Amino acid sequence: MAADKPHMNLAVIGHIDHGKSTTVGRLLFETGAVAQHVLDSYKKEAESKGKGSFEFAWVMDNLKEERERGITIDIAHKRFDTAKYYFTVVDCPGHRDFVKNMITGASQADAAVLVVAAPDGPMEQTKEHVFLSRTLGINQLIIAVNKMDAVQYSEKRFNEVKQQVTDLIKMVGFKPEETLFIPISSFTGVNVSKKSPETPWYNGPTFLEALDTLKEPEKPTDKPLRLPIQDVYTISGIGTVPVGRVETGLLKKGMKVSFMPANKEGEVKSIEMHHEEHAQAGPGDNVGFNVRGIAKNDIRRGDVCGPVDAPPTVAEEFTAQVVVLQHPSVLSVGYTPVFHCHTAQVACTFLELQKKLDPRSGQVKEENPAFLKAGDAAIVKIVPTRPLVIEKAKELPQLGRFAVRDMGSTIAAGIVLDIKAKQMR
Ligand code: GDP
Repeated sequence: MAADKPHMNLAVIGHIDHGKSTTVGRLLFETGAVAQHVLDSYKKEAESKGKGSFEFAWVMDNLKEERERGITIDIAHKRFDTAKYYFTVVDCPGHRDFVKNMITGASQADAAVLVVAAPDGPMEQTKEHVFLSRTLGINQLIIAVNKMDAVQYSEKRFNEVKQQVTDLIKMVGFKPEETLFIPISSFTGVNVSKKSPETPWYNGPTFLEALDTLKEPEKPTDKPLRLPIQDVYTISGIGTVPVGRVETGLLKKGMKVSFMPANKEGEVKSIEMHHEEHAQAGPGDNVGFNVRGIAKNDIRRGDVCGPVDAPPTVAEEFTAQVVVLQHPSVLSVGYTPVFHCHTAQVACTFLELQKKLDPRSGQVKEENPAFLKAGDAAIVKIVPTRPLVIEKAKELPQLGRFAVRDMGSTIAAGIVLDIKAKQMR
């Protein structure tokens, strides 16, 4: 369909109830990815349950359910096309553990749309998601100031929210002057695909035009293959089929691959994308691939597939730069929260706090600090409690970043500076 258009993975972030699901539903609809009759049936269903104007959010809910039910690798539903790109929404907003989702989603995203409701302005999760996106390596952001209908399309309110969001994104290192702010209403469709008379004061691009101003991501095809596993299926008549997204390098039919830390090897027999067989897949491609020599239970989510001659790095210890987002008290040596890196979740211990840094300039403020608290940046040494594949951010940024979670909230995020690798053979 759009095979010749460049592909972009898009994360949709923002505070709960600010309209992420509705906005994605609206995008899918306005670009023709969801047909009017499908929307009508959702609308009827929503109305019968007394939830009148919910149809766009329902599009997302139904897709989510579908995904939970089936084992087919069907991402076509969350695809939509603009004039220049075809987009995949890498995350399913509305998921119960959205931040957790967002960590894996955002680490795969080429750009993010931040949805901020005009009546509320930026809130707690707005801040958290913006911070995470930045630390996880997203450097392109579009701000959708949503629910403009609920503030009578007020220019004054739009500018207030724009100023608040500008302050917020500047703090974490985004460039506000390079960031587009679009006043939209996902309910009424204002400024989504066409300029609307409701906002005569707005002269900028529509939401869809803004999406086309994003820069095409670089494709790290010359690097070794890294493919973090999301799921592993057994499909009758085919065999073991791991599923995941190629982060770097190329996956080719006939290739000998190694899965780490599982330390298993096999041969790629076939590769499937969008229900079609392909001879190879590259960065950004979501694939299912059949591997000979691997049983379903040999490998699991969190393992990473790479070439046998350049297998993924299993870390015995690593040094990282982290930024602490929030912590109920202070973070000190011995603390062992869960690290989320690509598709892996592994408890890791802070072994040394080496240097405290100025979060903006990166200058060393203190050697061997006794503890870290919210707002601090630091260089630390970490030990995983069980084998974990992680890479230096400089070499393979896609596999070199992580988020730190504890008791349901995000404590910190960071990038890997150096690794003491474990010998696997
Ligand atoms: P999410 O939690 O960010 O995914 O938010 P939802 O998309 O589920 O929307 C939250 C609530 O805001 C729902 O009641 C929506 O119907 C409502 N909503 C979403 N977009 C708009 C909008 O453009 N205008 C108004 N007035 N309400 C909206």
